[in-house]
Amino acid sequence: MSSPAPLVDQFARRITYLRLSVTDRCDLRCSYCMPEQMTFLPRKDVLSLEELYEMALGFIARGITKIRLTGGEPLVRRDMMELVRALGRKIGDTNGNGHLEELTITTNGTRLSEFADGLAEAGIKRVNVSLDTLDRETFTALSRRDSLPQVLNGLQAAKEAGLKVKLNVVALKGINEAEIPEIISWAHGQGFDATLIEVMPLGDVEEDRFDHYLPLVAVRESLEQRWTLTPSDHRSGGPARYFDVVGSTGQKTGGRIGLITPLTNNFCDGCNRIRVTATGQLYACLGGNEQVDLRAAMRSEDTEAALSDALDLAMRIKPERHNFIIDKPGGAPAVSRHMSMTGG
Ligand code: SAM
Ligand code: SF4
Repeated sequence: MSSPAPLVDQFARRITYLRLSVTDRCDLRCSYCMPEQMTFLPRKDVLSLEELYEMALGFIARGITKIRLTGGEPLVRRDMMELVRALGRKIGDTNGNGHLEELTITTNGTRLSEFADGLAEAGIKRVNVSLDTLDRETFTALSRRDSLPQVLNGLQAAKEAGLKVKLNVVALKGINEAEIPEIISWAHGQGFDATLIEVMPLGDVEEDRFDHYLPLVAVRESLEQRWTLTPSDHRSGGPARYFDVVGSTGQKTGGRIGLITPLTNNFCDGCNRIRVTATGQLYACLGGNEQVDLRAAMRSEDTEAALSDALDLAMRIKPERHNFIIDKPGGAPAVSRHMSMTGG
């Protein structure tokens, strides 16, 4: 039997990267991400561990080589480590259909001290940890939970477990703007890379995102007064563009800075990814509503064929680009779903 066709969309982009959300729940309430009184999905609608695993195998058979587990907060899902171990066994396994090269996770880090060893043992090599501030008061105000000490312990545990860490830092005017150079220096001192992200208009939150929207062009200019940023060839398979950082003494700080600019510089030409929510809704683009119901496929009689047909449909509807705008106060979100549904 010939292998199933790889996933290629109508703009000839080869899709090899799946972001799989395992839960929409979270133990933090970052104010740019979700409201304090967030309505979460009924548990019965969320895919079971077996369904997530089978679905992931279906993706791998169609040429997905990299899977990032995300959420909500993936490490709050009770059976999460079982999924990590099961998928970890598929890394480099060439016996089945397809070939998973990398399994990664994006986490807020609150539970990393408990799980870092297990993640490393399961074959995960790199983790993205979201950390927008090193100041406990700012952290508590921003995430509405006093969890900075747990996150710092988690980062330490990740380091000790041998995991390569990249910090995700959402750049926010008037909140962490002044602290960004310190966060980068601290990250590099710990051996972590750091990626700055522009806030995106996804889902309603209590605040107006316009108030804190900080274009990264401005951040880059201010960083260049302190350091020389030299474009790096490094690519992580995502939209970030990386820079090596050289200090005033002419020495590299040892780490890289990534810039993700969904608003100021659209990067859709090279998009290689699709996203699936914890209920099995495939979103062809983070910024669009083009959607395919994979849960229905997973619960149909001929799961394999139905999933493959659903993925073909996803390739036909994947849009060319997103179009995020935060240019005036009171602007509506680009889509109604929060980032915690589709993960990052
Ligand atoms: N809970 C995990 C975490 O925070 O790392 C994983 C899911 S979270 C939705 C993934 C990433 O999305 C985090 O780095 C977070 O800062 C970012 N994020 C959430 N809402 C965002 C928004 N509206 N604009 C830009 N980034 C956002
Ligand atoms: Fe939770 Fe991550 Fe959203 Fe913060 S950004 S509320 S940690 S899902």
